Amino acid sequence: MNALELHSLSKSYGGQKALENVSLSVPAGSRTVIVGPSGSGKTTLLRMIAGFEFPDTGRLSLNGQTLVDGTHEVPAHQRLIGYVPQDGALFPHMTVAANIGFGLATKGSEKQDRVAELMDSVALDSNMAERWPHELSGGQQQRVALARALAQQPRLMLLDEPFSALDTGLRASMRKLVARLLAEAGVTTILVTHDQSEALSFADQLAVMRHGRLVQSGHPLDLYRYPDDVQTALFLGEAVVMPARIEAGWAHCDLGRIPVNNHRNNSAAQIMLRPEQLQLASIMPHTAEVVGCRAVVTERDFSGNTCTLTVELQASASGEQSGRSLLVRSSGMYAPPAGSAVHVSTIGHAHVLSEI
Ligand code: ADP
Ligand code: MG
Repeated sequence: MNALELHSLSKSYGGQKALENVSLSVPAGSRTVIVGPSGSGKTTLLRMIAGFEFPDTGRLSLNGQTLVDGTHEVPAHQRLIGYVPQDGALFPHMTVAANIGFGLATKGSEKQDRVAELMDSVALDSNMAERWPHELSGGQQQRVALARALAQQPRLMLLDEPFSALDTGLRASMRKLVARLLAEAGVTTILVTHDQSEALSFADQLAVMRHGRLVQSGHPLDLYRYPDDVQTALFLGEAVVMPARIEAGWAHCDLGRIPVNNHRNNSAAQIMLRPEQLQLASIMPHTAEVVGCRAVVTERDFSGNTCTLTVELQASASGEQSGRSLLVRSSGMYAPPAGSAVHVSTIGHAHVLSEI
């Protein structure tokens, strides 16, 4: 069942389009991530779902209840939607406990117990209850904001770039904690981010936004492997894109003949491979028979567990000089140094991109 339905939402600010014809179904209990560069309309879309912005045209409904259509608007406080804005927005003059208990209807010890339970659920130590927001780290502030939103027992949780202020290690652990917490609470969640690796890791549905439009949505792995166009391909990670001739399920290109996942016969097209689909093998001085293309490593970018290599193809499969540079991802410890002569072969299918 879908919890949230967005249907053709559009919004302009003074003639400038912030959202254009956005439609999306969010399955109940899912973690949907909206990813896009800064200014693509992500916050505007979340604020519209929360009820702080209203669309010029379009409809939206939650659990079958219409929240907005051409004639009717349910105000934000009646939507039962939790919203954690980009900066967390804690009340600076209230303690942690007061922030979390802000919207609770209960009083006295019952309220205290509920606040303690919420603090526990977001892994905040009970001795932090009387601290002020400025006495907390970024990660702790985010958890207070989340607990405050969870206190309302929302039907839907909206998180706007919740981990962007945290450093890398904390980001990953917070992401796991929040994912587990929301799954346990069974709350349907929409998370917004401009960080592609965060999006791919958190989402069970991923929606990509660009210039106010939702350009593609689906399972993260499908979007990573089968992006519709080159911009989405490059936004979700590094990509090797090159021209090819497609014939009977094969791409003929500078790397030779590679099977394609999506057929388009006898046409010229751009194909895409992820750098981890390219494999290198060193060329021994007396090797006569080679598999794949000959290339030379021109650059080696070591980053610990992985290494990104730039290789220049020496000759295409048809024997012509190629000179094309490609990115290859390799294990950090065993990557060949710059200047090495290598063979490049491919793993899996190439993906044919649509024309833009
Ligand atoms: P994102 O969250 O993806 O960075 P936003 O939704 O904040 O993007 O903004 C999308 C576009 O809408 C931007 O061009 C922004 O300048 C514009 N915009 C957002 N809110 C307003 C507003 N209240 N008034 C005028 N323009 C706005
Ligand atoms: Mg934003």
